[in-house]
Amino acid sequence: MKYLSIKQNKNKDKNFKTFLTIKQDTDMTVKHSETDVLIIGAGPAGLMCATWLSRCGIPFRIIDKRSNEIFTGQADGLQCRSLEIFQSFSELSFDFASLNQSWKMANHMIEMCFWSPNSNGQLERNSRVADTIPGISRFTQSVIHQGNIEKWFVDSIDYFSEGKIQIERPLLPVSINVKEENEGKSNIDDYPVEVKVVKVSSEEARPEQYGNKNVANGLFRQFDGDQDKSYKEKPASEEEEDGEVEEEDCEIIHTKYVVGCDGAHSWVRKQLDIDMEGEQTDFVWGVLDMVPITNFPDIRNRCAIHLKDSGSVMVIPRENDLVRFYIQLKEVERDPATKTDNKKFTGNVDDTQAKTKGRIDRSKITPELILKQAQKIFEPYTLEMTDLSWYTGYQIGQRVSPQFSKFNNRVFIAGDACHTHSPKAGQGMNVSMQDTYNLGFKLALVCKGLAKQEILSTYQLERLKVARDLIAFDHKLSRLFSGKPMIPNSDILDGVDMDEFHQVYLEGNKFASGTIVDYEDSLLINKLKLKQDKNDDGDGDGLMVMNKLAPKIPIGRRLYSVKMISQADGRPIHIADRLSSDGRFRVLIFPGDIKQYPNNLKILHSFQDLLDDSKNFLKKFTPLNAFQDSVIDIITIHNNNRHEVEIFDFPDFTHPLDYKHRCDYWKLYSGKGDTYHEGKINMYDDYGIDPKHGVILVIRPDSHVAKVVPFSIDGLKQVDEYFKKFMIDQTNNVLASKPIDYDDSKRFIQPRLAV
Ligand code: FAD
Repeated sequence: MKYLSIKQNKNKDKNFKTFLTIKQDTDMTVKHSETDVLIIGAGPAGLMCATWLSRCGIPFRIIDKRSNEIFTGQADGLQCRSLEIFQSFSELSFDFASLNQSWKMANHMIEMCFWSPNSNGQLERNSRVADTIPGISRFTQSVIHQGNIEKWFVDSIDYFSEGKIQIERPLLPVSINVKEENEGKSNIDDYPVEVKVVKVSSEEARPEQYGNKNVANGLFRQFDGDQDKSYKEKPASEEEEDGEVEEEDCEIIHTKYVVGCDGAHSWVRKQLDIDMEGEQTDFVWGVLDMVPITNFPDIRNRCAIHLKDSGSVMVIPRENDLVRFYIQLKEVERDPATKTDNKKFTGNVDDTQAKTKGRIDRSKITPELILKQAQKIFEPYTLEMTDLSWYTGYQIGQRVSPQFSKFNNRVFIAGDACHTHSPKAGQGMNVSMQDTYNLGFKLALVCKGLAKQEILSTYQLERLKVARDLIAFDHKLSRLFSGKPMIPNSDILDGVDMDEFHQVYLEGNKFASGTIVDYEDSLLINKLKLKQDKNDDGDGDGLMVMNKLAPKIPIGRRLYSVKMISQADGRPIHIADRLSSDGRFRVLIFPGDIKQYPNNLKILHSFQDLLDDSKNFLKKFTPLNAFQDSVIDIITIHNNNRHEVEIFDFPDFTHPLDYKHRCDYWKLYSGKGDTYHEGKINMYDDYGIDPKHGVILVIRPDSHVAKVVPFSIDGLKQVDEYFKKFMIDQTNNVLASKPIDYDDSKRFIQPRLAV
């Protein structure tokens, strides 16, 4: 029997080529395969990436070392932006039991209450605020456990890939190698990354259990070194040499790109030799998911409770009557072997440093211990627990990786693999999913041969800043959470000022919603020339860049969704529902009021020639025989009551015919008027667009505003220039022609990108 060595490479040589430690399979009996993208890790970050790639029809694989998915516990908070993103994977023409289920099934959090000691040291409610800033999104922050979300992702991937893509588990990557590219030049047809994977037994794939074996808990996850256990050498057996496995259990995957979504102790990150920067604190928190029996009046509201000496607690009301308690634990035994100096991370420091008293001894954390602490905090209110569903304990660490990709953007890391922080602001899962929501469409465009590989460098540019902002925010919030409160008229003057806490919380709420993420100028976002129009309304958003033609639309942020009315059938719809996540760019043309300013209609008609010209963006970047809107989708929204105008007053591109002469009625909308059932709509006002001048917007596939230009031929030429900087000419990409009797009835759910 032939064997391959699978010893993990411990030599962190900077020369990546030396990372390949497998013996060459000279007789080529080891399985070799090719795929465009290999995703390592099927947590929220990996699954979001997989959802994008399956929606866009990209060949990929997703592997995980765990033998099963999550059923309870872990992250539970869903930000507004995550809910918007989930919704965007559905379309008006189909609605299946998938990601948008989260809005239907999650507990919507409406109110947040702050409790702290009064001047007598007694617990009292000192304020209530809306949990989500009103008007910031069409969704409010909601809570449902991670297992449901992962399940809906898996269903979506199955649905979009028509059952072709499954998560492959338990599979462990054991080596990774990137071939040097020809004279440093990347070729999209190459598969320069080789990852060796090995099947592990279900037993090895099950995480080690700690604590109460009868209750699901997350104690298995918390610490450095746990990842390495997966890589410990296999014991020698009679047939096997030490550290070797049978070759049929091995496979070498040749791939164009690897996305490491393998969590906080990422193996991929370690292979890339990227350290985390940041620090570990000594604050220890316990988490309990249970149904409480209590006379505390705000138990179904989100609460931040600070107490004089007993620390603080965060109450999160959840689905199915559950409530999650995040409780600061005062006395937890430490593992003395892990005690180290408190070193601040400056990079290039090993993960196991920067502790003070040492790691908590997780076997000593029990639900009873956490409850006891909570009961003290709740006094004089009573608190008992029933229906305990999950618990865990963890130490807060705030760390971010200084690099999110390496090797000419061939290998990426995302999610917890590149940032970890406390769960106070409910960000972990959200920011992780949003990392790959940013990366996924870019990989799809590149793998499809539609866009240049340079666009991949915008991933790190855009997401590293978000991660750093997140760590800074979390740092501030968790220290305020973990400190003792300042008590009015008492001698505790150096404690946490509750007004400050309240203020940081309110300011942070915008950030925490995920809706104000603002991407900088790049190949994909054009705002540099407009810097002079920066606006700071002083509400904590920072500086926004707007074009005067659309002063309420910040460039670089996701387009805030408002309603418009379908010209064809009068249905009011959210514009976001017309900007689905299917990989396409959108050009939104706002020609203004064409009755009051008839010249605007003439300008709109003059666009037709430019769009029909094969040298210009619409035709040039769409493969021959593909649907004309399958790469760039043009949508027109006028500012007339829809009864004042007719669909055929408008140029052909607003109601195009396809190869079967079917008319696409869903490209023309009215931004103004009364609706039969949903009141008045005034989109131009909502966006600050003057109906006399109009405007043109370019929207990226992730709904971020890329460019804002005047409504004119010159403006449309600027749109053309935008695409020419990074899109690839498709003139020679000829797809099979579609015969007139071709059955394409599934075209709305099958991949829509360049088909
Ligand atoms: P993960 O969800 O960690 O997913 C990583 C995936 O990669 C896992 O499926 C893992 O099995 C797999 N993997 C790891 N290494 C390898 C490898 N070498 N090869 C192949 N696959 C690999 N957040 C909160 O807000 N509140 C909480 O109370 C909370 N509790 C948590 C408890 C636990 C046990 C865990 C793990 C996380 C918790 N989090 C919590 C954090 C939250 O779950 C994460 O922020 C979020 O899951 C990050 O998503 P991710 O996809 O980046 O990483």
